[in-house]
Amino acid sequence: MIRVGTLGVTKNKSERITGINNPLNRVEPRSRSFEIVPNNIYFIRRQMAEKNQNELVSKIVSLCKRRGIIFQNSEIYGGVQGFYDYGPVGSLMKLNWKNLWWTDNVVKRRDVVGIDGSIITHPTVWQASGHVKNFADIMVECKSCHKRFRPDLLDDPSKCPECGGQFTEGRKYNILFETEIGVIEGEKQHAYLRGEACQTIYLDFKNIVDSCRVKIPFGIAQIGKAFRNEITPKNFLYRTREFEQWDVQYFVHPTEMDKWFEYWKENRMTWYKKIFNDSKNLRFREHAKDELAFYAKKAFDIEYNAPWGWAEMEGIHWRSDYDLTQHSKFSGQDLSYFDPITHEKYLPHITETSGGVDRSFFFMLLDAYQEEKTESGEIRTVLKINPKISAYKMAILPLAANKPELIKKAEDIFEKLNEKYSVDWDDSSNIGKKYRRQDEIGTPWCLVVDYQTLDDNTVSIRDRDTMKQIRIKTDEVDNWLEKQLNK
Ligand code: ATP
Repeated sequence: MIRVGTLGVTKNKSERITGINNPLNRVEPRSRSFEIVPNNIYFIRRQMAEKNQNELVSKIVSLCKRRGIIFQNSEIYGGVQGFYDYGPVGSLMKLNWKNLWWTDNVVKRRDVVGIDGSIITHPTVWQASGHVKNFADIMVECKSCHKRFRPDLLDDPSKCPECGGQFTEGRKYNILFETEIGVIEGEKQHAYLRGEACQTIYLDFKNIVDSCRVKIPFGIAQIGKAFRNEITPKNFLYRTREFEQWDVQYFVHPTEMDKWFEYWKENRMTWYKKIFNDSKNLRFREHAKDELAFYAKKAFDIEYNAPWGWAEMEGIHWRSDYDLTQHSKFSGQDLSYFDPITHEKYLPHITETSGGVDRSFFFMLLDAYQEEKTESGEIRTVLKINPKISAYKMAILPLAANKPELIKKAEDIFEKLNEKYSVDWDDSSNIGKKYRRQDEIGTPWCLVVDYQTLDDNTVSIRDRDTMKQIRIKTDEVDNWLEKQLNK
């Protein structure tokens, strides 16, 4: 999205409504030299724990670290604000998250093709797109305490919320990340890390039309990294400086824009509702007229009801022929489409669906996180995520690590299932602790090999959500699991 200037102004965001009194909205001071955060993830946790409403975020951050889902990047050096790593469990979950999107938006559709584009492009791309000029937020600095803020996120932008001091004049701060291409000093070419992934799709439009027998209407999809030097990275994965986006740019005849815009708007909301447990936490927010880019007739955000208020998860944008027009102009190439049936030549118009992979992943975790009181009065933490997204489809748990017969049986089952599914193995500690660990990472089923297995070749399978157990024959496990996953 273009931030400031002639192309559109992002005002009236739901996050602004929640105000500075919410610690999650508070703009963090920058360290003078570089943005090193002293106590990294603990700093975030402490900050987030300030208010009850933020407790859930704090718990998720803690769970992610404890269970190898997400870590603060460069944590041993104190961390850098706005950068995160997915751990062994999280990277599997994120792969599944992206696969689900890719399967539904590319693999299963005859009218959408996918690409995987470069992060660095020809620098003129970002002039053509308007980002060099307009991809900016306004930043002010307090003259007394020298903390920096985005005034559009403050309840009272006339004074510093920390010390009441006066602000400097606001100045535009371009959030494109800059870099250089080449090795010889003086000959290096100034370039940018892409600020939004979709630009690569417009750059490949002509190649795809020429090489892939696509006919309008059709879409080009991509999942890929984008980089924004955000003034205020905050709320864990919600606003980071390096993140992934999933986009479909759907190219249509100009007279069909209304129809396809409505189609994609509903399609994307239905998709999220299918995956999230509580669809009441999802809603549309229509952009006000003064938020729209000059070329857009309408725009909608799909928002999630986050602990700090309704927050954007994905945008459905009316991009008209703006992008192809700009790239035609700046590149000197004709990017128009020739209809082989009507013989009409025109610049296609675009409906864009653009969502944050990490941001929606975070919301999906918030949606799935539950604490339940068990019959014994214990609190169990459980991630009720869709089995398609869980890192492991099943955990194989031999009841005792020091009984070779049990281990052998469990290993045989593990090896067989592991050929088809991602399964986990845990022969440590007691069974209660093993269940708790799997509940916390959202493994839908735990299979226990116990002494009865040695007698009758049956195993127990425990369901994550109901905690109910069934017993089935070991040679039926594969079919049983397949059936559950295809439900
Ligand atoms: P915001 O208003 O929250 O800054 P945006 O309207 O600028 O977002 P778009 O340019 O429309 O966002 O990008 C599409 C999607 O990319 C957003 O809906 C969001 O899910 C994700 N996204 C954008 N900026 C970030 C970020 N800094 N960190 C994580 N995800 C982001």
